[in-house]
Amino acid sequence: MFDRLKSQPEDPILAMMEAFRADPRTDKIDLGIGIYRDAAGTTPVMHAVKTAERQLVESQTTKSYTALSGDPAFIKAMAGLVLGDRDMSRIAGAATVGGTGAIRQGLDLVRLARPDARVHIPDPSWPNHRAIIQAVGLTCVTYRYFDAETGGVDIDGMIADLSAVRSGDVVLLHGCCHNPTGADPNAADWHRIIATLAETGATVLVDLAYLGFGDGLDADAEATRQMIDTLPEVIIGVSCSKNFGLYRDRAGVVLVSAADADQARVVQGNLTTLNRLAYSFPADHGARTVEMILNDSALRADWSQQLSEMRGRINALRQALATALRDRTGSDRYAFLGSQKGMFSRLPASPDEIRILREEHGIYLIGDGRMNIAGLSQEDIPRLAQAIATVCA
Ligand code: PMP
Repeated sequence: MFDRLKSQPEDPILAMMEAFRADPRTDKIDLGIGIYRDAAGTTPVMHAVKTAERQLVESQTTKSYTALSGDPAFIKAMAGLVLGDRDMSRIAGAATVGGTGAIRQGLDLVRLARPDARVHIPDPSWPNHRAIIQAVGLTCVTYRYFDAETGGVDIDGMIADLSAVRSGDVVLLHGCCHNPTGADPNAADWHRIIATLAETGATVLVDLAYLGFGDGLDADAEATRQMIDTLPEVIIGVSCSKNFGLYRDRAGVVLVSAADADQARVVQGNLTTLNRLAYSFPADHGARTVEMILNDSALRADWSQQLSEMRGRINALRQALATALRDRTGSDRYAFLGSQKGMFSRLPASPDEIRILREEHGIYLIGDGRMNIAGLSQEDIPRLAQAIATVCA
């Protein structure tokens, strides 16, 4: 049996984490894996999470199974967080194993409905998008997205490619804080994107893994909300890993906005079955913690405050790095770092330059130049800027 298996390629991010750990240099800088770090370099348990978990331990009287689609109060609270006070009658939802599980269940839903669907993803995108699309047996194609010259969105290229999408296809969009580039459409761009999608008849899959890390919770949900208001079918994969700092607890939700309440009921049944087939019941601890925070005004305010401090720290690091690079290179070619959103930016560096940064300067970035800005400290910035200015042509 197993002699028929092919070795799987190593995950480049996890391989880099190993190399970083093994590097004895004390001034090494890890800009690899996408986790938030505070000024002390730790990924903290958020205060509201600690408090909610304590309350949960005290008050929980049973660990019996929840529903197959997860705790309904969690799904409702997450739907409210993402969609605001919209009518929920055409929304179906299921708790999932993190944001990855939400994307997986959303794509499996597409496969059940349209096994011949093509899924259009931005070029570039989170590498797991293509991998999951192919694993569920759908066809993956890309649309133009990133303009490497400006560090912004190639909006004309994107619109041209999206105009050619067929009805029955799926278009995957990063709802905010694009991974790996940090380049997000502005309000006018979103308007054009949504108008184009409305003409094609495509179903949209929004990946929301960084809600609250761009401009704020409501601002980051705005494009998704406009899609719900305008388009007949939208799937949203939401992760609680980053914005609740619940990485290992695997909390997430897939929300589906269907054409009407009857269709939403059928979708709900299919999501429930997909959970049943994958793992029966989704994990509850992280989901319930999130639900307790969102449904308690004091905990919610505390969480939202800490999240805005995290966002503020990332934005301050962005500004500091952009300024330090302007000072060292005497040009504005890195100004995009200051205006991009979320944890990531992509350094326009060749594979050779990325290798030199790692070998000679102890600076670890992923092979495509993605940097986790949220992994930096203010003290790292002068050295990082100097290294980039020295190494990158
Ligand atoms: N989508 C994107 C774009 C991501 O970057 C991530 C996390 N790296 C996820 C989804 C999934 O996150 P998780 O499964 O850890 O919640």
